[in-house]
Formats: sequence, structure tokens, C-alpha cells
Amino acid sequence: MTKKEKGRIVVERLKSLYPDSCSLEAKKDYELLFATRLSAQCTDARVNTVTKVLFKKYPTLDSLAEADENDIAEIIKPCGLFRTKARDIKLGAVKLVEVFGGRVPDTMEELLTIPGVGRKTANLILSDIYGHPAIVADTHCMRIAGKLGLTGGGRDPLKVETELSKLIEPAEQASLCHRFVHFGRDICTARSPQCGECPLSDICSDYQQKIKK
Ligand code: SF4
Repeated sequence: MTKKEKGRIVVERLKSLYPDSCSLEAKKDYELLFATRLSAQCTDARVNTVTKVLFKKYPTLDSLAEADENDIAEIIKPCGLFRTKARDIKLGAVKLVEVFGGRVPDTMEELLTIPGVGRKTANLILSDIYGHPAIVADTHCMRIAGKLGLTGGGRDPLKVETELSKLIEPAEQASLCHRFVHFGRDICTARSPQCGECPLSDICSDYQQKIKK
């Protein structure tokens, strides 16, 4: 089986397993940006509970830019790392208002100038909001793609993004990465992968090597 064929099977099986690929709730472009920031080391469900309160109290980008950072921190506390995240949200809102005219930019270069936005978040915004093909190589994606044998198993996000971009159809890239996150939390966990229950075990290079030994 070629890597491309394996990529197609992975896409189809994870699609069946997780029909709804993104579970962060956001009505506006900047809400998705800040919800993604909040999701670092936090579950989507908790982020959704917190953003409901945050975006109700601060319903516009201007109101977030003018918000008291301590108040943002208090609201987002359940998401963890709340001081850093509150600072990023406040400064991010200010930057979007003052530099980008109140819109979330549509290039990687511009997105990376926003506080708290790294390649992972930028790729997610480019794909979910602007429909650009984009691999979001976070730790789940890099680890699982390596185990499956889709990539060489390296942990360099740029390299993994390039490797996967060649295998996965552009229209499937963003949702596959969302699904890797869920899969990495539910089944192929870092500490104890549930290979016996895994729908990809028959094509997983790591597992197949283990059972051969
Ligand atoms: S078989 Fe095991 S290691 Fe391979 S993808 Fe599934 S859970 Fe992960």
C-alpha cells in the first residue's frame, strides 16, 4: 500500500469515527481565533463553556480590545494558563482592531504577528475561515501520523506539514487534523494507545511492527 492510499483510508475511517470534525464553537472569525488560543491544554467542551460567557460579556472585537485583562483572566480561568491566555486575547483584540481593521488576516505572515498565534492556530484559521488547504501539525498530528507510517515520524511541524500535504487532498487536510486531535485524546493517546480498539490498527505501521515481534 502506498502512503497516499493509506492517507485516503485514514481520512475515510476517521471521518466515520468523528463525523463532526471541529467542536470549537464560534460565530465570528475572531471568536474562532481566541477559542483556539484557549484550547491549548484544555478540552473543546470546556473552551465552549468559557467562550459562551466571554463573548456574551464582550460581544464585539472593540469591547474585547477595551476589556480589563484581569476580568478576561477571571472568566477564562477554567481553561488553565489563564494569565497568558488573557494577555494574548486582550493584545490580540487590540492588534486586530488597530492593525488589521477589525478583521482576522488571511495570510500566514500576518497571522503570526498576532500575540499567541503560532503556525498551528494560523493554519487552522486559514483552513476553517478562508478555506485554504492547511495541515495543522500539532503534537497529536505529528505523533499519530508517525505511528501510522504516513510520515517519517519526525516532530518538526514544518516537515510534517510538507509530508502530509503531499498525501492528503487539500479539501480534507484541515478536518483530518481536527480528527487527529480527537483520536489522539480518545484512542491513540500518548501514554496508553488503545490499539486493540483502534479502527486503524490493520494499517498502522507501529502496531503492525509490534505484533510481528
Ligand atoms: S494501532 Fe495503536 S498506535 Fe496505531 S494508530 Fe491505532 S492506537 Fe495508535
